Amino acid sequence: MNVTSIIHEALAQHRTRFAFELLPPLKGDGTSGVFGAIDPLMEFDPAYINVTFHREGIKQTQRPDGSVEWHVVRRRPGTVGISAAIRKRYDVEVVPHLICGGLSKYDIEDALIDMDFLGLHNVLALRGDKSQNERFFMPHPQGHAHAADLVRQIAAMNRGEFVDGEVEVCHHSKFSIGVAGYPETHEEAASPEADILHLKEKVDAGAEYIVTQLFYDNARFFDFVARCRAAGIRVPIIPGIKPLATVRHLKLLPETFGCRIPEELEREVLAHAGDKAAVRRIGTEWAIAQSRELIAAGVPVLHYYPMGKAENIIEIARTVF
Ligand code: FAD
Repeated sequence: MNVTSIIHEALAQHRTRFAFELLPPLKGDGTSGVFGAIDPLMEFDPAYINVTFHREGIKQTQRPDGSVEWHVVRRRPGTVGISAAIRKRYDVEVVPHLICGGLSKYDIEDALIDMDFLGLHNVLALRGDKSQNERFFMPHPQGHAHAADLVRQIAAMNRGEFVDGEVEVCHHSKFSIGVAGYPETHEEAASPEADILHLKEKVDAGAEYIVTQLFYDNARFFDFVARCRAAGIRVPIIPGIKPLATVRHLKLLPETFGCRIPEELEREVLAHAGDKAAVRRIGTEWAIAQSRELIAAGVPVLHYYPMGKAENIIEIARTVF
């Protein structure tokens, strides 16, 4: 069963499933860190596990003569490989992410062919963020400018159309395709309306479900869903949840993910700013309350972002699922 079918099954059964997202190991690390993060979360019967995709970074060093040398560095390669390793070890559906940034259509096609051979039939199709040395996102000269174009490529491959044309005898891939959505509007969007129209473009291109950026105010998620439905987007929408865990998150999360922290949460965190454990508890309890309300609203899956720290996710899952 692929992830789209799992989501529809959860909707039909009026059951909310648990899912989470992991990062591939840092270059040079083995699989033990990732497996160590997954092991305690398996008790909650995840519907699937997502694995992020990281584009290259740029490192600057100075030569002895004072001139500057630029190096391309890949800190977290291996999304496809670690996804296959997770699927083999835990017998769970895995969703590797795939991005446009830094990749040509041919690189993308190669990755999809590898995924298909490895039994990975789910993909979250994303544009990716701009590279460290760019002011704006710059597509690869032979790549895609928007996630919708990546969705079109994957959907075309499912029909047997490859980048260089159709092949006569064709094994058709059957990728289930998810995309990202932004309850608080993507930072580069011309307007909230334009952002929703571009999201619809991804769905019209073949995306079967949407996973949202993290948010802390459920009202914003419900409003986003209503705006999507009004625009004719009918596919399931999966909310993304990350528990706030430190005082620093009050600034860092809005800066990084464009989400707003509700005043009530901010006030409570600041009132306990000197007590790390209390701040963590406040963030966890907030995420529990968010999760309960979303379950009551009938979402098929809750998509958690542990971001390297599983303890609070375990606590939330134990309370909620
Ligand atoms: P798009 O859908 O292409 O949208 C990007 C912007 O362009 C939006 O403002 C949109 O409104 C606008 N736009 C779209 N189409 C058009 C058009 N035709 N004309 C003009 N404007 C247009 N990043 C990673 O690098 N790796 C990951 O693994 C990863 N995982 C993620 C998982 C989730 C659930 C989410 C929500 C985000 C994830 N990201 C990841 C971050 C994501 O790559 C960034 O938010 C990125 O800036 C936008 O990606 P997108 O797929 O939403 O892009």
